[in-house]
Amino acid sequence: MFKADYHVHSSFSGDSGESLNVIFQHAFDLGLQEIALTDHLDPDFPSERVIFDIDLPSYFQILETYRKEWEGKLSILTGLELGLQQHLAQDLDHVLSDPHLDFIIASIHCADRGDFFDETYFDGKQKDEAHRIYFQSLYENLKIFDGFSVIGHMDFIKRYGKNHYGKDHCELDYNLHMDLIDEILRLAVEKGTGLEVNSSGYRYGLGHAHPDSIILSRYRELGGEIITLGSDAHRAEDIGKDLDRAGELLENLGFRYICGFRKKEPLFYPLARLRVHLAGD
Ligand SMILES: [Zn+2]
Ligand SMILES: [Zn+2]
Repeated sequence: MFKADYHVHSSFSGDSGESLNVIFQHAFDLGLQEIALTDHLDPDFPSERVIFDIDLPSYFQILETYRKEWEGKLSILTGLELGLQQHLAQDLDHVLSDPHLDFIIASIHCADRGDFFDETYFDGKQKDEAHRIYFQSLYENLKIFDGFSVIGHMDFIKRYGKNHYGKDHCELDYNLHMDLIDEILRLAVEKGTGLEVNSSGYRYGLGHAHPDSIILSRYRELGGEIITLGSDAHRAEDIGKDLDRAGELLENLGFRYICGFRKKEPLFYPLARLRVHLAGD
């Protein structure tokens, strides 16, 4: 009976205005047992549109206060969504080894100093090429970084480039990149890194979570078992959304467990019980 959301943003993130009070109350009202705050830290982000910096000491301190306040009602985990860029390899060691953190999502939100959110990033790139660069960049970063828990929304690049590629922008040709996807997943399994299943894909109308089942199936075939579920909520009302749907998908793909984390160590909870529990709500 494990109900948890492992990808939630608060006003500690540059792109969210949600207060911790509202978030925890909403999570509790939904009947969640655990919530992992995963606010953005994306150092040296190559765009001015938003500041993805965070004051870690105050983040840790405030979460500790809330953790005590909610003890016995809701477990509050201290997480981060850490943006990786290759040139930061040494700079992030202290974050990746910080003992306050229970859980770290490693995400790629930019490549070659370009922000995916900025349409000009796609100038002069064919769609397949842009997708390839994303996977290549993820792979290069995974090779040099350690100490994170899961790979965030692996394949979310398909949400971007709409002005360049039109309505087909979200059609990603997985077969074209399967060699690279395989390398990424093999490395993840070797390092004991999980994948998150990020249910925001449903909210964006893609009809699936990130990553798509083709990647999840391959991860499992390669021996991967560490999976977390997260909504990527930036507003309290999105907390927990479509996680039951994602859990059901995982079960259909043959996964047996869903993970929680404590101090970066995965804990395994049976999926079947998750689905039954959520369906009974
Ligand atoms: Zn992200
Ligand atoms: Zn996020």
